Amino acid sequence: MKRYEVIIVGGGLAGLTAAIDLAIKGREVLLIEKHAYPRHKVCGEYLSGEVLPYLQTIGVELPLGIAIDTLSWSVPGGRPVETRLPLGGIGISRYGLDALLYQKACDSGVRVLIDSVIDIKAGPGYFQVRTKERVYECRVVLGAYGKRESLDKTLGRQFISRKSPWLAVKAHYHCQEWPDHQVGLYTFKGGYGGPSKTELGTVNFCYLVRYDSFKRYGNMTEFTKEVISENKELRQFLQHSEMVFDKPLTIAQISFGTKNPGNNGLLMIGDTAGMIHPLCGNGMAMAIHSASIAARLVQQYLSSSSTDLQSLQRKYSSQWQANFRKRLMIGSALQTVLLNDTMASLSQATIARSPRLLRAVIRATHGKDISV
Ligand SMILES: Cc1cc2nc3c(=O)[nH]c(=O)nc-3n(C[C@H](O)[C@H](O)[C@H](O)COP(=O)(O)OP(=O)(O)OC[C@H]3O[C@@H](n4cnc5c(N)ncnc54)[C@H](O)[C@@H]3O)c2cc1C
Repeated sequence: MKRYEVIIVGGGLAGLTAAIDLAIKGREVLLIEKHAYPRHKVCGEYLSGEVLPYLQTIGVELPLGIAIDTLSWSVPGGRPVETRLPLGGIGISRYGLDALLYQKACDSGVRVLIDSVIDIKAGPGYFQVRTKERVYECRVVLGAYGKRESLDKTLGRQFISRKSPWLAVKAHYHCQEWPDHQVGLYTFKGGYGGPSKTELGTVNFCYLVRYDSFKRYGNMTEFTKEVISENKELRQFLQHSEMVFDKPLTIAQISFGTKNPGNNGLLMIGDTAGMIHPLCGNGMAMAIHSASIAARLVQQYLSSSSTDLQSLQRKYSSQWQANFRKRLMIGSALQTVLLNDTMASLSQATIARSPRLLRAVIRATHGKDISV
């Protein structure tokens, strides 16, 4: 049986980034992804600028993205507050971004397999990764399979036993009125969402909502009319736009619970390690950043004669916590405030008087430019 140096389970942003980085460092990488590329994914599609210099260092240029430097924010009944985003970012579709990274991974020598991983077993200094088709062996496994999967249950991860009330919906729209340089963050009863332009010329509108708020209306049309349109900015956006997709994409059971970035010698990256609330607009950057941390430590591990996977996991977990734990906590507190009508109105009034405060909050949920 062929033994790889690294197997990466899941080829979203985290998995593809780690695969490219490790392949460039000379490692033999197998990436297993269950869906073929390209495809649309539920995501706000605003990529924070902090990871762009790092992506360049691994040869990923993003010529396609739309430059975004302004956040527009409002609660129902409140006037929108606009502020400049401290680092700025780009609007780029996951359809385009994941496909570009996939191409780069293939060009860098990563072997990409379209298959589904169903189990991972750790032996002394090596792993066996089982897909629907066969078993592969390797020295290191990176778990990059996203928010919540049946694999979490197989691996005995605790967070999976807790149900999550969150549902997300996304579609692309034609909308001439939406300004290129702006990302929206607008709340409504039980949720929030925001439009932003993509390189495809369409505007992505993605929202997150509690399932109990959604289910009272029975269908998306009613929910949009009765709840989302309570926010004037969203009402105007929807009135002036036309959906490009046949129907919106949806995902349920989005879990923001605490996870472990390491599991029995496996290193978890991206959403598999922990998920920041989407209102922070930082999940993609965190996925890429965590991949860069893991790639650096895995390279050191493979260059040594060590087989001490527990020590590798401890090092990675401690760096992951140092970089992301505080951001996750602030994101969670922000979501609580914004989804409480009284607290959200009070914060809107405070921030309208001092938009600087909003910039300080944004800084607290984002990293600095990452370099490697
Ligand atoms: C509503 C919403 C809006 C968001 N908006 C933004 C935003 O505007 N900006 C931002 O920065 N972040 C945003 N995020 C967060 C962002 O989408 C995620 O943080 C990011 O996608 C994480 O990337 P990932 O690689 O960890 O996971 P993913 O991109 O989900 O990739 C995981 C991959 O693993 C594959 N996979 C799963 N199971 C298996 C298996 N068993 N075998 C093989 N492959 C498998 C999946 O098919 C998938 O391709 C948003 C999230 C939500 C829910």
